[in-house]
Amino acid sequence: MLLKAFSLLLLCSVALAADSYDGYKIYDIIASNAFEKQILLRLSNNMDYDFFDMPRAFDAASRVMVQPKDQAEFELLLQKFNLEYAVINDNLGDSLRQEQLENQSQRLLSQRSASRSISFTAFHRHAEINAYLDELAKAYPSRVTVTTPGQSYENRDLKLITITNGDGKTGKKVIFLDAGIHAREWIAPAEALYVIYQLVENFAANSALLKDYDWVILPVVNPDGYEYTHTSTRMWRKTRKPVSSSCYGTDANRNFDYHWGEVGASSYSCADTFKGETAFSEPETQLVRDLLLGYKGRGKFYLTLHSYGNYLLYPYGWTSALPTTWRDIDAVAQAGADAIKSGTGTKYTVGSSTNVLYAAAGGSDDYAFAVAEFPISITMELPAGGTGFDPTTAQILPYVSETWLGIKAMAQKVIEEF
Ligand SMILES: [Zn+2]
Repeated sequence: MLLKAFSLLLLCSVALAADSYDGYKIYDIIASNAFEKQILLRLSNNMDYDFFDMPRAFDAASRVMVQPKDQAEFELLLQKFNLEYAVINDNLGDSLRQEQLENQSQRLLSQRSASRSISFTAFHRHAEINAYLDELAKAYPSRVTVTTPGQSYENRDLKLITITNGDGKTGKKVIFLDAGIHAREWIAPAEALYVIYQLVENFAANSALLKDYDWVILPVVNPDGYEYTHTSTRMWRKTRKPVSSSCYGTDANRNFDYHWGEVGASSYSCADTFKGETAFSEPETQLVRDLLLGYKGRGKFYLTLHSYGNYLLYPYGWTSALPTTWRDIDAVAQAGADAIKSGTGTKYTVGSSTNVLYAAAGGSDDYAFAVAEFPISITMELPAGGTGFDPTTAQILPYVSETWLGIKAMAQKVIEEF
Protein backbone atom coordinates (compact mmCIF):
# COMPACT_ATOMS: atom_id res chain seq x y z
CA MET A 1 0.00 0.00 0.00
CA LEU A 2 2.76 2.36 0.96
CA LEU A 3 4.64 1.47 -2.17
CA LYS A 4 1.54 2.13 -4.23
CA ALA A 5 1.03 5.53 -2.65
CA PHE A 6 4.66 6.35 -3.28
CA SER A 7 4.37 5.42 -6.94
CA LEU A 8 1.24 7.49 -7.31
CA LEU A 9 2.98 10.46 -5.76
CA LEU A 10 5.83 10.02 -8.18
CA LEU A 11 3.46 9.82 -11.11
CA CYS A 12 1.57 12.94 -10.10
CA SER A 13 4.68 14.99 -9.63
CA VAL A 14 5.83 14.41 -13.19
CA ALA A 15 4.86 17.12 -15.65
CA LEU A 16 2.98 15.58 -18.49
CA ALA A 17 3.83 16.29 -22.09
CA ALA A 18 0.20 15.40 -22.79
CA ASP A 19 -1.19 18.46 -21.05
CA SER A 20 -0.58 20.70 -23.99
CA TYR A 21 -2.91 18.59 -26.16
CA ASP A 22 -6.24 19.09 -24.42
CA GLY A 23 -8.99 19.40 -26.99
CA TYR A 24 -6.76 18.55 -29.93
CA LYS A 25 -8.51 16.41 -32.54
CA ILE A 26 -7.12 13.89 -34.97
CA TYR A 27 -8.80 13.58 -38.36
CA ASP A 28 -8.51 10.89 -41.00
CA ILE A 29 -9.20 12.27 -44.46
CA ILE A 30 -9.74 10.30 -47.62
CA ALA A 31 -8.58 11.96 -50.83
CA SER A 32 -9.84 9.62 -53.52
CA ASN A 33 -8.46 11.29 -56.64
CA ALA A 34 -5.51 13.40 -57.76
CA PHE A 35 -7.43 16.65 -57.38
CA GLU A 36 -8.33 15.88 -53.77
CA LYS A 37 -4.72 14.89 -53.05
CA GLN A 38 -3.68 18.30 -54.36
CA ILE A 39 -6.09 19.98 -51.94
CA LEU A 40 -4.61 18.01 -49.04
CA LEU A 41 -1.11 18.93 -50.15
CA ARG A 42 -2.10 22.59 -50.10
CA LEU A 43 -3.73 22.25 -46.67
CA SER A 44 -0.53 20.66 -45.40
CA ASN A 45 1.36 23.85 -46.22
CA ASN A 46 -0.68 25.56 -43.52
CA MET A 47 1.42 25.16 -40.38
CA ASP A 48 -1.63 25.18 -38.13
CA TYR A 49 -2.44 21.69 -39.38
CA ASP A 50 -0.01 18.95 -38.37
CA PHE A 51 -0.15 16.29 -41.08
CA PHE A 52 1.12 13.06 -39.52
CA ASP A 53 1.27 11.35 -42.90
CA MET A 54 0.38 11.85 -46.54
CA PRO A 55 0.20 8.50 -48.30
CA ARG A 56 0.13 8.43 -52.07
CA ALA A 57 -2.43 5.63 -52.43
CA PHE A 58 -5.97 6.90 -53.04
CA ASP A 59 -7.55 4.43 -50.64
CA ALA A 60 -5.23 5.35 -47.74
CA ALA A 61 -6.35 8.08 -45.35
CA SER A 62 -4.18 11.05 -44.42
CA ARG A 63 -4.01 11.82 -40.72
CA VAL A 64 -4.00 15.37 -39.37
CA MET A 65 -3.80 16.85 -35.86
CA VAL A 66 -5.66 20.15 -35.37
CA GLN A 67 -5.70 22.36 -32.27
CA PRO A 68 -9.03 23.57 -30.83
CA LYS A 69 -8.88 27.13 -32.21
CA ASP A 70 -8.50 25.91 -35.81
CA GLN A 71 -10.99 23.05 -35.82
CA ALA A 72 -14.13 24.91 -36.97
CA GLU A 73 -12.36 26.47 -39.94
CA PHE A 74 -10.62 23.19 -40.79
CA GLU A 75 -13.90 21.27 -40.86
CA LEU A 76 -15.48 23.99 -43.01
CA LEU A 77 -12.64 23.64 -45.51
CA LEU A 78 -13.03 19.86 -45.64
CA GLN A 79 -16.77 20.26 -46.23
CA LYS A 80 -16.25 22.95 -48.87
CA PHE A 81 -13.99 20.64 -50.87
CA ASN A 82 -16.25 17.65 -50.24
CA LEU A 83 -13.47 15.65 -48.62
CA GLU A 84 -14.56 12.54 -46.76
CA TYR A 85 -13.27 12.63 -43.18
CA ALA A 86 -13.66 11.14 -39.72
CA VAL A 87 -12.58 12.35 -36.30
CA ILE A 88 -10.62 9.43 -34.93
CA ASN A 89 -9.65 11.09 -31.65
CA ASP A 90 -11.58 14.01 -30.20
CA ASN A 91 -9.29 14.77 -27.28
CA LEU A 92 -5.70 13.78 -27.86
CA GLY A 93 -4.73 15.17 -24.46
CA ASP A 94 -6.81 12.47 -22.71
CA SER A 95 -5.24 9.63 -24.69
CA LEU A 96 -1.71 10.93 -24.28
CA ARG A 97 -2.19 11.46 -20.55
CA GLN A 98 -3.27 7.85 -20.07
CA GLU A 99 -0.41 6.57 -22.19
CA GLN A 100 2.10 8.66 -20.34
CA LEU A 101 0.95 7.53 -16.91
CA GLU A 102 1.15 3.94 -18.14
CA ASN A 103 4.66 4.55 -19.47
CA GLN A 104 5.79 6.08 -16.17
CA SER A 105 4.54 3.12 -14.18
CA GLN A 106 6.10 0.65 -16.64
CA ARG A 107 9.40 2.50 -16.32
CA LEU A 108 9.24 2.28 -12.54
CA LEU A 109 8.36 -1.41 -12.72
CA SER A 110 11.27 -2.19 -15.02
CA GLN A 111 13.64 -0.18 -12.82
CA ARG A 112 12.73 -2.43 -9.90
CA SER A 113 12.82 -5.74 -11.73
CA ALA A 114 15.27 -5.55 -14.61
CA SER A 115 19.00 -6.05 -14.42
CA ARG A 116 19.56 -3.37 -17.06
CA SER A 117 18.50 0.25 -17.37
CA ILE A 118 16.15 -0.48 -20.22
CA SER A 119 13.35 -2.87 -21.06
CA PHE A 120 10.98 -3.26 -23.98
CA THR A 121 7.91 -2.64 -21.85
CA ALA A 122 8.39 1.14 -21.63
CA PHE A 123 9.76 4.06 -23.63
CA HIS A 124 12.92 5.10 -21.86
CA ARG A 125 14.44 8.50 -21.19
CA HIS A 126 17.68 9.48 -22.89
CA ALA A 127 19.72 9.09 -19.69
CA GLU A 128 18.44 5.50 -19.28
CA ILE A 129 19.37 4.72 -22.87
CA ASN A 130 22.89 6.07 -22.38
CA ALA A 131 23.22 4.14 -19.11
CA TYR A 132 22.26 0.93 -20.94
CA LEU A 133 24.99 1.47 -23.53
CA ASP A 134 27.56 2.00 -20.77
CA GLU A 135 26.38 -1.14 -18.96
CA LEU A 136 26.89 -3.17 -22.15
CA ALA A 137 30.39 -1.78 -22.66
CA LYS A 138 31.23 -2.81 -19.12
CA ALA A 139 29.64 -6.26 -19.33
CA TYR A 140 30.98 -7.16 -22.80
CA PRO A 141 34.30 -5.32 -23.14
CA SER A 142 35.63 -7.60 -25.89
CA ARG A 143 32.65 -7.02 -28.20
CA VAL A 144 31.28 -3.59 -27.32
CA THR A 145 32.81 -0.12 -27.48
CA VAL A 146 30.86 2.98 -26.49
CA THR A 147 32.13 6.41 -27.42
CA THR A 148 30.77 9.95 -27.20
CA PRO A 149 31.62 11.61 -30.51
CA GLY A 150 29.80 14.81 -29.58
CA GLN A 151 26.97 16.60 -27.81
CA SER A 152 23.58 17.92 -28.78
CA TYR A 153 22.78 21.62 -28.78
CA GLU A 154 21.62 21.33 -25.15
CA ASN A 155 24.80 19.43 -24.29
CA ARG A 156 23.46 15.93 -24.04
CA ASP A 157 25.98 13.20 -24.83
CA LEU A 158 25.37 11.53 -28.17
CA LYS A 159 26.60 8.03 -27.44
CA LEU A 160 27.63 5.69 -30.20
CA ILE A 161 27.94 1.94 -29.78
CA THR A 162 30.20 -0.21 -31.94
CA ILE A 163 29.45 -3.92 -31.81
CA THR A 164 31.92 -6.54 -33.06
CA ASN A 165 32.29 -10.29 -32.67
CA GLY A 166 35.39 -9.80 -30.56
CA ASP A 167 37.82 -11.51 -32.95
CA GLY A 168 40.09 -8.47 -32.81
CA LYS A 169 40.12 -7.91 -36.58
CA THR A 170 39.97 -4.24 -37.54
CA GLY A 171 38.81 -2.48 -40.69
CA LYS A 172 35.77 -4.69 -41.27
CA LYS A 173 32.86 -3.53 -43.38
CA VAL A 174 30.27 -1.51 -41.49
CA ILE A 175 26.51 -1.45 -41.05
CA PHE A 176 25.54 1.97 -39.67
CA LEU A 177 22.15 2.35 -38.03
CA ASP A 178 20.59 5.42 -36.45
CA ALA A 179 17.22 6.41 -34.99
CA GLY A 180 15.39 9.27 -33.35
CA ILE A 181 16.28 12.01 -35.82
CA HIS A 182 12.61 12.95 -35.42
CA ALA A 183 11.81 13.47 -31.75
CA ARG A 184 8.25 12.15 -31.54
CA GLU A 185 8.90 8.84 -33.31
CA TRP A 186 9.54 6.97 -30.07
CA ILE A 187 9.35 3.47 -31.52
CA ALA A 188 12.48 4.17 -33.61
CA PRO A 189 15.00 4.51 -30.71
CA ALA A 190 13.25 1.55 -29.06
CA GLU A 191 13.98 -0.46 -32.20
CA ALA A 192 17.62 0.64 -32.25
CA LEU A 193 17.92 -0.57 -28.65
CA TYR A 194 16.36 -3.89 -29.60
CA VAL A 195 18.89 -4.33 -32.41
CA ILE A 196 21.67 -3.58 -29.92
CA TYR A 197 20.14 -6.04 -27.44
CA GLN A 198 19.98 -8.77 -30.11
CA LEU A 199 23.53 -8.26 -31.37
CA VAL A 200 25.10 -7.99 -27.92
CA GLU A 201 23.05 -9.88 -25.37
CA ASN A 202 21.74 -12.49 -27.83
CA PHE A 203 25.09 -12.77 -29.64
CA ALA A 204 25.11 -16.56 -30.01
CA ALA A 205 21.98 -16.48 -32.17
CA ASN A 206 23.20 -13.55 -34.28
CA SER A 207 26.95 -14.04 -34.55
CA ALA A 208 26.79 -14.58 -38.35
CA LEU A 209 25.70 -10.94 -38.68
CA LEU A 210 28.99 -9.90 -37.06
CA LYS A 211 31.46 -12.20 -38.79
CA ASP A 212 32.65 -9.84 -41.54
CA TYR A 213 30.81 -6.73 -40.43
CA ASP A 214 30.89 -4.37 -37.48
CA TRP A 215 27.66 -2.65 -36.50
CA VAL A 216 27.78 1.00 -35.49
CA ILE A 217 24.60 2.33 -33.90
CA LEU A 218 23.53 5.82 -32.83
CA PRO A 219 20.21 5.11 -31.08
CA VAL A 220 19.11 8.73 -30.46
CA VAL A 221 20.29 11.30 -33.00
CA ASN A 222 18.16 14.13 -31.57
CA PRO A 223 18.11 13.73 -27.76
CA ASP A 224 17.05 17.33 -27.08
CA GLY A 225 13.92 16.83 -29.14
CA TYR A 226 13.38 13.37 -27.68
CA GLU A 227 13.54 14.64 -24.10
CA TYR A 228 11.27 17.55 -25.00
CA THR A 229 8.62 15.08 -26.18
CA HIS A 230 8.81 13.40 -22.78
CA THR A 231 8.70 16.54 -20.65
CA SER A 232 6.80 19.17 -22.60
CA THR A 233 5.40 18.63 -26.09
CA ARG A 234 4.72 15.03 -27.08
CA MET A 235 4.36 15.71 -30.82
CA TRP A 236 7.60 17.71 -31.25
CA ARG A 237 9.57 16.65 -34.33
CA LYS A 238 12.59 18.94 -34.72
CA THR A 239 15.82 19.70 -32.90
CA ARG A 240 15.75 22.33 -30.12
CA LYS A 241 18.20 25.02 -31.19
CA PRO A 242 16.40 28.38 -31.36
CA VAL A 243 16.17 29.82 -34.84
CA SER A 244 14.22 33.04 -34.54
CA SER A 245 12.71 34.91 -31.63
CA SER A 246 9.58 32.78 -31.68
CA CYS A 247 10.60 29.47 -33.21
CA TYR A 248 12.80 26.59 -32.21
CA GLY A 249 14.32 23.72 -34.03
CA THR A 250 15.23 22.43 -37.44
CA ASP A 251 14.01 19.31 -39.20
CA ALA A 252 17.27 17.40 -38.95
CA ASN A 253 16.18 15.16 -41.80
CA ARG A 254 16.01 18.17 -44.15
CA ASN A 255 19.37 19.56 -42.97
CA PHE A 256 21.89 17.36 -44.83
CA ASP A 257 23.89 18.99 -47.60
CA TYR A 258 22.85 17.11 -50.68
CA HIS A 259 20.49 19.11 -52.87
CA TRP A 260 19.70 20.82 -49.59
CA GLY A 261 16.45 22.74 -49.52
CA GLU A 262 15.62 22.14 -53.17
CA VAL A 263 12.28 20.44 -52.59
CA GLY A 264 9.94 19.30 -49.82
CA ALA A 265 11.51 21.42 -47.09
CA SER A 266 10.36 24.69 -45.58
CA SER A 267 12.30 27.96 -45.38
CA TYR A 268 10.05 29.13 -42.55
CA SER A 269 11.65 28.56 -39.16
CA CYS A 270 8.37 27.75 -37.41
CA ALA A 271 7.50 24.97 -39.86
CA ASP A 272 7.87 21.33 -38.88
CA THR A 273 9.95 20.67 -42.00
CA PHE A 274 12.24 23.72 -41.59
CA LYS A 275 15.44 22.94 -43.50
CA GLY A 276 17.67 25.02 -41.22
CA GLU A 277 19.35 28.36 -41.77
CA THR A 278 22.17 26.58 -43.56
CA ALA A 279 22.88 22.96 -44.43
CA PHE A 280 24.34 21.23 -41.37
CA SER A 281 23.28 24.07 -39.09
CA GLU A 282 22.64 21.55 -36.28
CA PRO A 283 25.35 19.92 -34.14
CA GLU A 284 23.41 16.65 -34.36
CA THR A 285 23.46 16.50 -38.17
CA GLN A 286 27.13 17.58 -38.24
CA LEU A 287 27.88 14.63 -35.99
CA VAL A 288 26.05 12.13 -38.21
CA ARG A 289 27.76 13.65 -41.26
CA ASP A 290 31.23 13.21 -39.74
CA LEU A 291 30.50 9.65 -38.67
CA LEU A 292 29.18 8.68 -42.11
CA LEU A 293 32.12 10.28 -43.90
CA GLY A 294 34.47 8.53 -41.48
CA TYR A 295 33.14 5.18 -42.67
CA LYS A 296 33.41 6.02 -46.38
CA GLY A 297 34.61 2.90 -48.16
CA ARG A 298 33.88 0.59 -45.23
CA GLY A 299 30.26 1.61 -44.86
CA LYS A 300 28.07 -0.74 -46.88
CA PHE A 301 24.62 -0.37 -45.35
CA TYR A 302 23.07 2.76 -43.82
CA LEU A 303 19.72 2.22 -42.15
CA THR A 304 17.82 5.08 -40.53
CA LEU A 305 14.75 4.33 -38.42
CA HIS A 306 11.61 6.47 -38.40
CA SER A 307 7.89 6.09 -37.90
CA TYR A 308 5.34 5.72 -39.25
CA GLY A 309 3.71 4.19 -42.31
CA ASN A 310 5.32 0.78 -43.06
CA TYR A 311 7.74 1.93 -45.72
CA LEU A 312 11.20 0.84 -46.80
CA LEU A 313 12.46 3.84 -48.74
CA TYR A 314 15.62 4.44 -50.68
CA PRO A 315 17.25 7.25 -52.70
CA TYR A 316 16.53 9.57 -54.03
CA GLY A 317 14.43 11.80 -51.86
CA TRP A 318 15.23 14.93 -53.86
CA THR A 319 14.17 13.71 -57.30
CA SER A 320 11.99 11.05 -58.85
CA ALA A 321 15.00 9.83 -60.83
CA LEU A 322 16.56 6.62 -59.49
CA PRO A 323 20.23 5.89 -58.83
CA THR A 324 21.74 3.54 -61.43
CA THR A 325 22.16 0.89 -58.71
CA TRP A 326 18.57 1.09 -57.51
CA ARG A 327 17.94 -2.60 -58.19
CA ASP A 328 20.57 -3.59 -55.59
CA ILE A 329 18.95 -1.40 -52.95
CA ASP A 330 15.48 -2.50 -53.93
CA ALA A 331 16.49 -6.17 -53.52
CA VAL A 332 17.75 -5.51 -49.97
CA ALA A 333 14.63 -3.57 -48.99
CA GLN A 334 12.43 -6.25 -50.55
CA ALA A 335 14.20 -8.93 -48.51
CA GLY A 336 13.27 -6.96 -45.38
CA ALA A 337 9.66 -6.55 -46.44
CA ASP A 338 9.38 -10.25 -47.34
CA ALA A 339 10.80 -11.39 -43.99
CA ILE A 340 8.33 -9.25 -42.06
CA LYS A 341 5.42 -10.33 -44.27
CA SER A 342 6.14 -14.01 -43.74
CA GLY A 343 6.90 -13.53 -40.04
CA THR A 344 3.85 -11.60 -38.91
CA GLY A 345 1.83 -10.72 -42.01
CA THR A 346 2.59 -7.00 -41.71
CA LYS A 347 2.97 -5.37 -45.12
CA TYR A 348 5.61 -2.80 -46.06
CA THR A 349 5.71 -0.67 -49.21
CA VAL A 350 9.11 -0.64 -50.92
CA GLY A 351 10.39 2.07 -53.26
CA SER A 352 12.27 5.33 -53.67
CA SER A 353 11.22 8.07 -51.23
CA THR A 354 10.11 10.44 -53.95
CA ASN A 355 8.16 7.85 -55.90
CA VAL A 356 6.48 6.10 -52.98
CA LEU A 357 5.88 9.11 -50.72
CA TYR A 358 6.90 12.62 -51.77
CA ALA A 359 10.05 14.52 -52.68
CA ALA A 360 11.99 15.89 -49.71
CA ALA A 361 15.61 16.98 -50.07
CA GLY A 362 18.24 17.11 -47.36
CA GLY A 363 17.60 13.67 -45.85
CA SER A 364 20.30 11.60 -44.19
CA ASP A 365 19.63 8.64 -46.51
CA ASP A 366 20.45 10.57 -49.70
CA TYR A 367 23.59 11.94 -48.02
CA ALA A 368 24.80 8.53 -46.83
CA PHE A 369 24.28 7.12 -50.32
CA ALA A 370 25.48 9.93 -52.57
CA VAL A 371 28.19 11.60 -50.50
CA ALA A 372 29.38 9.04 -47.93
CA GLU A 373 29.07 6.33 -50.60
CA PHE A 374 27.15 3.70 -48.65
CA PRO A 375 25.94 1.49 -51.53
CA ILE A 376 22.80 0.51 -49.63
CA SER A 377 20.91 3.29 -47.88
CA ILE A 378 17.40 2.77 -46.54
CA THR A 379 14.88 4.69 -44.45
CA MET A 380 12.57 2.39 -42.53
CA GLU A 381 9.22 3.76 -41.39
CA LEU A 382 7.90 1.48 -38.66
CA PRO A 383 4.16 0.87 -38.19
CA ALA A 384 1.81 3.37 -36.54
CA GLY A 385 0.70 2.84 -32.97
CA GLY A 386 -1.92 4.72 -30.95
CA THR A 387 -2.84 7.71 -33.10
CA GLY A 388 0.37 7.24 -35.08
CA PHE A 389 3.49 8.30 -33.21
CA ASP A 390 2.38 7.01 -29.83
CA PRO A 391 2.27 3.22 -29.64
CA THR A 392 1.16 1.86 -26.28
CA THR A 393 3.76 0.26 -24.03
CA ALA A 394 2.18 -3.12 -24.79
CA GLN A 395 2.89 -2.58 -28.49
CA ILE A 396 6.63 -2.01 -28.04
CA LEU A 397 7.84 -5.61 -27.86
CA PRO A 398 5.67 -6.92 -30.72
CA TYR A 399 6.75 -3.99 -32.91
CA VAL A 400 10.46 -4.12 -32.18
CA SER A 401 10.69 -7.88 -32.56
CA GLU A 402 8.74 -7.82 -35.82
CA THR A 403 10.95 -5.04 -37.19
CA TRP A 404 14.06 -6.96 -36.18
CA LEU A 405 13.00 -9.73 -38.59
CA GLY A 406 13.22 -7.23 -41.42
CA ILE A 407 16.46 -5.63 -40.29
CA LYS A 408 18.12 -9.02 -39.89
CA ALA A 409 17.00 -10.10 -43.37
CA MET A 410 18.26 -6.87 -44.93
CA ALA A 411 21.61 -7.20 -43.17
CA GLN A 412 21.91 -10.82 -44.33
CA LYS A 413 21.24 -9.75 -47.91
CA VAL A 414 23.86 -7.00 -47.68
CA ILE A 415 26.38 -9.43 -46.19
CA GLU A 416 25.74 -11.89 -49.05
CA GLU A 417 26.07 -9.30 -51.79
CA PHE A 418 28.79 -6.89 -50.64
ZN1 LIG B 1 10.72 10.66 -39.23
